[in-house]
Amino acid sequence: MEEAAAAPNCLAGVRVLDLTQFEAGPTCTEVMAQLGAEVVKVENPRGGEPGRILGTGPKPGADAYYFMIYNANKKSVTVNLKSERGLALLKEMAKRADVFVENFAPCWPEFDIEKHTGVKISKGIYQQDIVETDTCPYIFYGYSVNADGLVSSCFLDWGRKLVIGDVRTQSMKSIWNSDAMNALRLQHLDGRRKQNQVCGNCGQLSHCLPDNIDAHRPMLLEKFKSRVVIDPDLEPPGGTNRRFAAVAAE
Ligand code: SF4
Repeated sequence: MEEAAAAPNCLAGVRVLDLTQFEAGPTCTEVMAQLGAEVVKVENPRGGEPGRILGTGPKPGADAYYFMIYNANKKSVTVNLKSERGLALLKEMAKRADVFVENFAPCWPEFDIEKHTGVKISKGIYQQDIVETDTCPYIFYGYSVNADGLVSSCFLDWGRKLVIGDVRTQSMKSIWNSDAMNALRLQHLDGRRKQNQVCGNCGQLSHCLPDNIDAHRPMLLEKFKSRVVIDPDLEPPGGTNRRFAAVAAE
């Protein structure tokens, strides 16, 4: 029984250089750490990995539980990747590592990860070319129910700016068919994504897109309009992209 419960340690002696952040990357290196690897997490000296402040922790100012779950059993060091000295140090560390893991992707709306980390991102998360797209496919697949019952149009709405309903007071079907959700869909199908303060600044569509549905936009728009009755002037969630509004007004 005790033997079965013990960590297998099959990665003992393996050194992992970990430049991951948030969730997907840290989950990968967390499993490596649990299997006995020596995982050295490299973080930004100005506040560390952004996941450290996502949500609540055991006390004010402490790391968030979110961060703890994905980063237990790891070593941590801060390196300024914007400085020559920091880059040289990182390259030296890479020479001594067996595995290098990173997951830099500017997918979070309104969060400039290149500015935050100093890392220039030239490829998408699937190593695809980075292309701008008009239409978000996620809002046609599903939505996200947050822990407090509020429903967001997508899983990236950590700022609760794309709220389309509340499961405590509404049925899931009515939220799926709500004016708020449909107004957002119409905005995207109309090619007006950039007008949205949140969606217009979302890197998911350029760097992490699973499906590019832009080519089908005219057909989808036609079908949408034949089935959904909605006030075309209804303001979708997300607010107005002030940068876009300023350019449009010029
Ligand atoms: S474009 Fe908007 S709805 Fe789509 S993933 Fe980004 S923030 Fe979410």
